Amino acid sequence: MGLYDKFSRLKNQRQYFSHSGLNPFGTCIDEVYSATEGRIGDRRVILAGTNNYLGLTFDPQAIADGQMAMAQQGTGTTGSRMANGSYGSHLALEQELAAFFGRPSAIVFSTGYTANLAVISTLACPGAVVLIDADSHASIYDACALGGAEIIRFRHNDVADLDRRLQRLGERAAEALIIVEGIYSMLGDVAPLAEIVAVKKQRGGYLLVDEAHSFGVTGPNGRGLAEEAGVEQDVDIILGTFSKSLAAIGGFATGSKEMEVLRYSSRPYIFTASPSPASIASVRASLRTIAGCPALRNKLWDNARRLYHGLSLAGYQSGPRISPVVPVMIASQEEGLRLWRDLIDHGVYVNLVLPPAAPAGMTLLRCSVNAAHSEQQIDKIIQVFTRLKQ
Ligand code: PMP
Repeated sequence: MGLYDKFSRLKNQRQYFSHSGLNPFGTCIDEVYSATEGRIGDRRVILAGTNNYLGLTFDPQAIADGQMAMAQQGTGTTGSRMANGSYGSHLALEQELAAFFGRPSAIVFSTGYTANLAVISTLACPGAVVLIDADSHASIYDACALGGAEIIRFRHNDVADLDRRLQRLGERAAEALIIVEGIYSMLGDVAPLAEIVAVKKQRGGYLLVDEAHSFGVTGPNGRGLAEEAGVEQDVDIILGTFSKSLAAIGGFATGSKEMEVLRYSSRPYIFTASPSPASIASVRASLRTIAGCPALRNKLWDNARRLYHGLSLAGYQSGPRISPVVPVMIASQEEGLRLWRDLIDHGVYVNLVLPPAAPAGMTLLRCSVNAAHSEQQIDKIIQVFTRLKQ
């Protein structure tokens, strides 16, 4: 058997999607003009399939700070923080993140994926018990596999199921790690955090929330769903990424002083190169923008409401709540592929999501809005969807 023969089924499946026209799983955005527009082939498109929630990828201050950091500190750090040393800017950003969240400690990682791998795999060591929402992101599943703990899945957003499973653990519940996300990236729904906290208080355990899609997006100060739900003091660890609202690349965790031990015990922290100076500098600028500019969040939610209502009026079935992620439910994979291609032809780029990336066997066209979209752009997205429905 050849080295790659075991992938032939997957390869055949994927070929089906790429044999005629654009490939939804390998789209090339040939040019990016702004946070909201780009070019795919010969089509100028509105970018409505990103995680650029606050539209900060072209923020002038973030670009200027990133450019200056690259000129002054070079293109990359070329090594890991433990072996090769941290840069002053890594430490400065960690202090700024800790201050933003009002927590004693914050650690910066090379990606959001690495942040999850680093924190969760180290805590979820053999002998530990971890309860995860069934719809958790792949990085959470991968971190659990790497760690070797006992993993218990509970039904998505089902607090009664979580409660039952914690109860069954008896005294072990006191040490269990419960992991949920803030906004879920495919349906735009949110964890019922207040209820989860209530269960944790009754049964015991620690709570980790991955705020990848909710940081900068929810909460009066943009700190995420824990802030929005008023339960920050009951969340032990908050994880986040720089690749969405912060518009760069990297990740972070924030929590108690004891979390610092991860710097010496977490392999995904120790054995990978640290984020580049340009990335760190632009994130520091964007963090200041998030802290100082709540109007961006208001604009994001105005856009989210406009798109959600517009698509509902056009007769599409969308997600369970208004959110910057607006999923459009499609009857079949073939229909999804056809619509996805037609949307690009008409100047709108969204994401085609199939199972298992989409939950519960669904086919989705995942639209996402950001604070930089104009009302005209949102209306154009709605018009194109409406026309394609007819
Ligand atoms: N957690 C969640 C919930 C995510 O959706 C993602 C990425 N989409 C990540 C972690 C990983 O973040 P990154 O892409 O920055 O590595």
